Amino acid sequence: MFTKIVISIMSFVIMFATTFGLKFVAPMDEAEEIKNVIIMIGDGMGFNHLYATQDKYGVELQMITRTEYHGESKTRSGSSLVTDSAAGATALATGHRTINGYVGVYPTDPLSVIANPSSITEVAMKYGKSTGIVTSDSIMGATPAGFSVHVRDRDLADKIFAQQVVSDIDLIWGAVAGEVTEAEVVENGKVFVDNLSEVQALEPGQKSIGQFHSDTMWRGLDNGDQPTLSELAVEALDLLNADEDGFFLMLEGAHIDKRSHDQDGNGAMEAVLEFDKAIGKVLDFAEEDGNTLVIITADHETGFVTKQNDGSYKWLIGGHSGANVPCFVYGSDTFIEEGEAIDNIDIPTMAVAYMTNNDQYFPCPIVYLEQE
Ligand SMILES: [Zn+2]
Repeated sequence: MFTKIVISIMSFVIMFATTFGLKFVAPMDEAEEIKNVIIMIGDGMGFNHLYATQDKYGVELQMITRTEYHGESKTRSGSSLVTDSAAGATALATGHRTINGYVGVYPTDPLSVIANPSSITEVAMKYGKSTGIVTSDSIMGATPAGFSVHVRDRDLADKIFAQQVVSDIDLIWGAVAGEVTEAEVVENGKVFVDNLSEVQALEPGQKSIGQFHSDTMWRGLDNGDQPTLSELAVEALDLLNADEDGFFLMLEGAHIDKRSHDQDGNGAMEAVLEFDKAIGKVLDFAEEDGNTLVIITADHETGFVTKQNDGSYKWLIGGHSGANVPCFVYGSDTFIEEGEAIDNIDIPTMAVAYMTNNDQYFPCPIVYLEQE
């Protein structure tokens, strides 16, 4: 009995410490040079997804060859060694581990009674930067939701969209979904776009919500005026970079996870290939810009992809695993060391410190940002 009480007190203290307390202090030398931050999330993308794709297509992935540092991210959530995408996105957006299923809320306050943790997107807006979210999933999917809203349950799509449509995020683009109507987008002063020509016609400063054909995006298909993920990456960079204060962009390749859930290795590798093409566009921009930090990572691994004796790769399970995932970095010599494994929550914490030249307040409740 006594032991049980001690253990439960200890676990509460640990949860409290990881939620509210521990702050990572980043080396600040090069922070002033970083104006833009781009986080690219291959949902469910483990290391073997990459090696399998390279083998199958006989290519070298740009995310490996063109990034400078190749480390790992530890992905456990606040409730499990194996995270779901909601808690995974919350960790990568807010610097807090939460309970699986929660989106942008503290593990101890799912109904947002006391406070919500701020996200890197909200910090960027606070610093006058433009912000964007691009995904091959629906925009209410767990990953884009983690970077844009605060709700207790990832399945509350109506509530997630209701927060997104009134948000100050400049662009939120994803796959067609029933909850997103043109009328509601326009009512809230945003532009509704559903093909590439309309995206290309957007002016910087016009806020938009995009609805596109999912398969075209993730498979990189040539499909008339429907855009691929890499085409959207180019357009998003073009619009966001018009802001002289810089920008934050989260771009997700969602189907590495979705195909892996079906143990469809070929589909998952096709998704890796288009995601890598989008990464190539982002790295083209970052190389030319010189003040952009690019982080390529995943929220978790899906499929427990394992190399077989014959050299082939097999998707062993139709769910998530707790394996470490890639954390590849371009644009900083101090963010991560080659081969180093860091905690997922340190990724936004360091990125915010670099982006704002302020390592003192993030992670923090959103009211902190509003008060300043
Ligand atoms: Zn995921």
